[in-house]
Amino acid sequence: MANTVKDALRRGRKTVETVVEEGRKTVESVVEESRKKVENVVEGGLDTVETVVEVGLNTVETVVVKGRRKVESAVSLGRRTVEHALLRGRTTMQAAVLHGREDVRIEQVPIPMAEAGELVVHVDAALTCGTDLKVFRRGYHARMIVPPALFGHEMAGTVVEAGQGVTDFAPGDRVVALNSAPCGKCYYCSRGQENLCDDLLFNNGAYAEFIKIPDRIVSKNTLKVPASVPLEHAALTEPLACAVHGFEDSEPREGDVVAVIGGGPLGLMILHVAALAGYETISLVKREGQVEAAKQLGATHVVQSSSIRKAIEDTRALTPNGRGVDIAIEAVGVPEAWQEAVELVRKGGTVNFFGGCPKNTNVTLDTNRLHYSDITLRATFHHTPAICRKALALISSGRFQAGAFITGRAHLYELNRVFENLMNRSSEIKTAIVP
Ligand SMILES: [Zn+2]
Ligand SMILES: [Zn+2]
Repeated sequence: MANTVKDALRRGRKTVETVVEEGRKTVESVVEESRKKVENVVEGGLDTVETVVEVGLNTVETVVVKGRRKVESAVSLGRRTVEHALLRGRTTMQAAVLHGREDVRIEQVPIPMAEAGELVVHVDAALTCGTDLKVFRRGYHARMIVPPALFGHEMAGTVVEAGQGVTDFAPGDRVVALNSAPCGKCYYCSRGQENLCDDLLFNNGAYAEFIKIPDRIVSKNTLKVPASVPLEHAALTEPLACAVHGFEDSEPREGDVVAVIGGGPLGLMILHVAALAGYETISLVKREGQVEAAKQLGATHVVQSSSIRKAIEDTRALTPNGRGVDIAIEAVGVPEAWQEAVELVRKGGTVNFFGGCPKNTNVTLDTNRLHYSDITLRATFHHTPAICRKALALISSGRFQAGAFITGRAHLYELNRVFENLMNRSSEIKTAIVP
């Protein structure tokens, strides 16, 4: 019995040992195979991981670079905004915004920033103008302004910011920035007729605390104002340039008698320019208040009449044998005044239709008179950079009575009231709008 048990135990141990031995082998095989698999995976995987890491790094670097740029732009923009805010104490300003017919609102808008080549100018004075009044009444200007838009175009002020690349101007400079600049490349520009440029760039926004001056106007039509000239006077450069242009375009000759129809700001300016140039002048006005202004500005004669027939008679009576004036410049912008101008000139005389009538206006003229009296017709529009410089020089000379043209002053808040007054034919010539 004892042997049987012993045998059984012995056999059992062997079995167990065999099982253990076999099991160990199986485990070792599995481990070995698995290690190979893992090594394979690791080997192949490494490439993959490295590729992923590499690609990822690039992506990350791009993102970092791009991100840095974005962050830098944001920081730069933010810094400038903050600088602006520090400089001016805020980031918004008051500005007149034209919304449509007789609808101008004073609104809070962002203070402009100067991009490359541009200027931001603090407006010291903006002047009301017949064109702005027309725009106020009509709600738009085909060539100059489409609402909603910043409004006003005659201004002078102080540079507060010069964009990258601007070398002619720096903060603190007193400047007058014109309302437009020609391209310098088109057919008309190449012929010296920049006022007719196919791509005339207009700028508006003078009725505001600050105005942005586009780079073309900075490089072509922004002028430094001499220290002796008040900025308010310098703001007259734009309308005066139109007046000088209209007068010169009429090709006056020594001894000519010049008649100017209209006692508005431009009529009076052309009259003053002609008088300063030494010509005998006749001013045709309608209202009492305009008579005094015309006399003060050098009119040799003033004809005041609301009847066109009478005005023509009275004007002719001032010329030898009633032959008529040498030059008649129309500065009202209505068909009757255009016809009147043709009736004022002598044989061989020159008429300048300076005042622009509303769109689609037609005028009937006596062809016999035009032909057999050999009358020259001109119609001067706008200004050129050279004439703008001439106009500022005339203001700076001190001979031009700039102060006589600015008959009122008002705050930006009062702009609507000012325009309503102008529409009601007040005796104001120009009002300086001070923000
Ligand atoms: Zn104007
Ligand atoms: Zn051009």
